[in-house]
Amino acid sequence: MNILLTGGLGFIGSHTAVVLASEGHSVVIVDNLCNSQQQTLGNLELITGKKLPFYEGDVRDVDLLKKILRDHQIECVIHFAGLKSVAESGADPLKYFDNNVSGSIVLIEAMQAEGVKKLIFSSSATVYGVPQYLPYDEEHPLAPMNVYGRTKLQVEEILQDLSKSDPDWSIVCLRYFNPIGAHESGLIGELPQGIPNNLMPYICQVVSGKLPHLNVFGDDYDTKDGTGERDYIHVMDLAEGHAAALAFTNHHQGWEAINLGTGFPYSVYDLISAFEKSAKQSIPKVVKERRSGDLPIYYAKADKAKNLLNWQGKRDLQSMCDSSWNYQDQLTRVPK
Ligand code: NAD
Ligand code: UDP
Repeated sequence: MNILLTGGLGFIGSHTAVVLASEGHSVVIVDNLCNSQQQTLGNLELITGKKLPFYEGDVRDVDLLKKILRDHQIECVIHFAGLKSVAESGADPLKYFDNNVSGSIVLIEAMQAEGVKKLIFSSSATVYGVPQYLPYDEEHPLAPMNVYGRTKLQVEEILQDLSKSDPDWSIVCLRYFNPIGAHESGLIGELPQGIPNNLMPYICQVVSGKLPHLNVFGDDYDTKDGTGERDYIHVMDLAEGHAAALAFTNHHQGWEAINLGTGFPYSVYDLISAFEKSAKQSIPKVVKERRSGDLPIYYAKADKAKNLLNWQGKRDLQSMCDSSWNYQDQLTRVPK
């Protein structure tokens, strides 16, 4: 199929491009490079051995989107393009509503105009908010605790209303849990700008000597070792989840929200231990106060993805850490 990836040079989009290209799909990418680098395109071409058409542009540019959809006879769009910092979304909510919500509306308008009605949307487990029960299933009440999460929920709702208004649409909202890891080549991975907010990229920068130590945000939660627990998922598993969702859109109409997680939570200390094994070095750490807005634990009920998409995460925590380390190690030695 001809697939457009918005935000396809980012962390999850680039890994998905590899999986889709290797399955024989024709992948086209649009990205405004606000959180990625064009060099990633070259690395994608090295990995896939294919030339991937790339447009540097913004999803809020309706004319550009229409042209791409038309020129490449796009059949399905996977919409990764978005901003993802919880802290920044609170400090600058309009930036987030404009990019994530208005950007999605412009994309949908372009798709509607060009008659492209298959869409896979990057949503997030953040839409659930404080757990009423765990694991979160897709029926769990939706009450995001921050602006970022609200942008994701708003887009999900817009898409649901759209599918009700026109039954030709096939829309899948994938609610990601905590993607980490990298492609086995070490050529692509997560490349945060500035000081990372998330645990894995922070650990990577400590190990590479850019940051002195890891701050462990709380060791007094009511969890197995006192630190926060999350459902980490290998980004290559996540990428394969998109390929499975793409196949699903071929025989599905309407709107579905589907969790992409493993169903198994790991603590901050679990992740540190696994990473220390990968990197064969210890990670200096300092226990700090809990981070405001953090939940003690959350993880996915992963049955719906298994039943509807015939997909489940296969790679374990050690493989996630080994691949993150391999990527970080290559980054440190060969600047990309
Ligand atoms: P990322 O920042 O690495 O990738 C997003 C890409 O979109 C970047 O390359 C950026 O340059 C591009 N982009 C942003 N706004 C754009 C715009 N207006 N027009 C064109 N391009 C634009 O992030 P990621 O981790 O790959 O996440 C992809 C999607 O998944 C995002 O929508 C994010 O909110 C969502 N998500 C991510 C996580 C996570 O932990 N990484 C978890 C849940 C959901
Ligand atoms: N965390 C931490 N130090 C960091 C970053 C994160 O201890 O520098 C903890 C955080 O409190 C949470 C877990 O690691 O328990 C995962 O945090 P992350 O920001 O990666 O994911 P999220 O909280 O958004 O699910």
